Amino acid sequence: MVRFHLLGQSTRPVLLYIRPPWDFSRALTQNYAFSSIFIVSLCMNVSERVSTMNDHHFQNLRIEGFPTHMSRLFDDLAALDKKIADRWKIRTRDNPKHILSTADIDFILADVIRSARTTDITEKQGLAIVMLLNASLAANAAKSGPALDRVAYYVNIWEKALRLNMQPIVDVEDLLPIALFLRNGVVSRVIFKSPGTKISYAPFDYIAVGQLILNRDVQVFMSKTGGLSALADVSGEYWHEANLFMIYNMEARERRLNFVHEGTHIIQDWEDVSSFVHEREADAFIAQAVAELTLYPDAPETDDVSLKSLAAAKMVINKTAIDSNKDWQTAYKNVVIAVGHVYKQYGVRVNPVKKGEGASERTKYREIVREITIANKIRDAILDKVGETLNSVLP
Ligand SMILES: [Zn+2]
Repeated sequence: MVRFHLLGQSTRPVLLYIRPPWDFSRALTQNYAFSSIFIVSLCMNVSERVSTMNDHHFQNLRIEGFPTHMSRLFDDLAALDKKIADRWKIRTRDNPKHILSTADIDFILADVIRSARTTDITEKQGLAIVMLLNASLAANAAKSGPALDRVAYYVNIWEKALRLNMQPIVDVEDLLPIALFLRNGVVSRVIFKSPGTKISYAPFDYIAVGQLILNRDVQVFMSKTGGLSALADVSGEYWHEANLFMIYNMEARERRLNFVHEGTHIIQDWEDVSSFVHEREADAFIAQAVAELTLYPDAPETDDVSLKSLAAAKMVINKTAIDSNKDWQTAYKNVVIAVGHVYKQYGVRVNPVKKGEGASERTKYREIVREITIANKIRDAILDKVGETLNSVLP
C-alpha cells in the first residue's frame, strides 16, 4: 500500500527493477549458475564455485561446520528462531538430510507467514530459513527446487508488503562504498544518448548519483534478512517520488549491476525528463549491460532483455551508438521491445517532477554535475602541470 502512495500511480506501481531471468526449479534442473543459490550457499560458508555447479556438485557439498549428527541443525536453527526450529523438527523428524517439499515449507513457515502480516521478517528468521533450505539443497539440490520456489513465493509477497526488514543506511562509511563504486571505472564507458528518453548519460552523471546518496538526497535502504531477500524477484528499486533506493540482493555481482541500473533511474528522476516506462527501463538495462561488459567481459546472455541489452551495450562501447546510425536505432528498439515483454506497461509515461517540486531536483542535480566537471578540470589541469614539471625535470 505504502508503495502505491509513494509511487503516486493511480492503478499500478511503476516497477523499476531487475527481474532475475530464470525460475529456480529450471535453474536447478538445467544446471544454471544463479546468484540466489550463491547467496544461500555463501551464508553457509560453502567454498564451491557455483558457476560450475551441477546436481552432482550440490550433492557433494561440504559445508564448513555443518552438523554431522542429527540434532545439530536443530540446535543451530533453535538458536536463531525456536518456532521455526520446532516446526522443522516435527516435519523432518530431525533429519538434516530431509528433502523439503512445498508442503513442508508451508508447515515450517506457518508462524513466520502469520507474523509477517504485521511485522518485518527478522534477520534471525531469515538466517534460519536460509539454513534449513541449504540443508535440503545439500541433500539434493534438484529435488529441493519446488521448496526453494515456495520460499521465493513468500519472499516476493513479503517484498511487496515491505516486510523484508528494510533498514536505512545513514552512516557515511556505509554509503561511501556505493559512491566510490559509482565513481570508479565501472561506468567509465557508459556514454550514450538514448533514442527513447533523449537523455544523455555519461560517467559524471553516476558520480553525481553517488553524491546525491552521500548527501542523503537519495536515501538508501538495505534489506537485512540474512540473505533471504536474495530470493526476491526484485533485486533493487528506486522510488522516484520519495527518492528512496531499496536494495534487496546482497550478491556482489548482482548488486554492482543493480547500482548502475538503479543509478540510471536516479539520473532520469533528477534530470526531470518525462518519458515512457519501457524507454526508461531500456536505458537502465543498456547502462547496466555496459557496466557488466566492463566488469565481466564474458557476461552471459541470460534472457531476451539481457541478450538485446548486451548487443546495444557493445555498440555503446564501440562508439557506434550514435543517432545517425540505423543499426543503433534498431538495437535500441529491440531492447525496448524485450523490456516491454517483461514490464508490460505499454504507453505508461513517468513524470518524475513531483507536485510542488518544480525544477528543484533538476537545478540541484545540474549544480552537482557542474561541480564535478569543474573539479575534474582542475584535477586535469594539475595533472597536466605535474606532467609538464616532470617532463622539464626528467631527462
Ligand atoms: Zn529499472
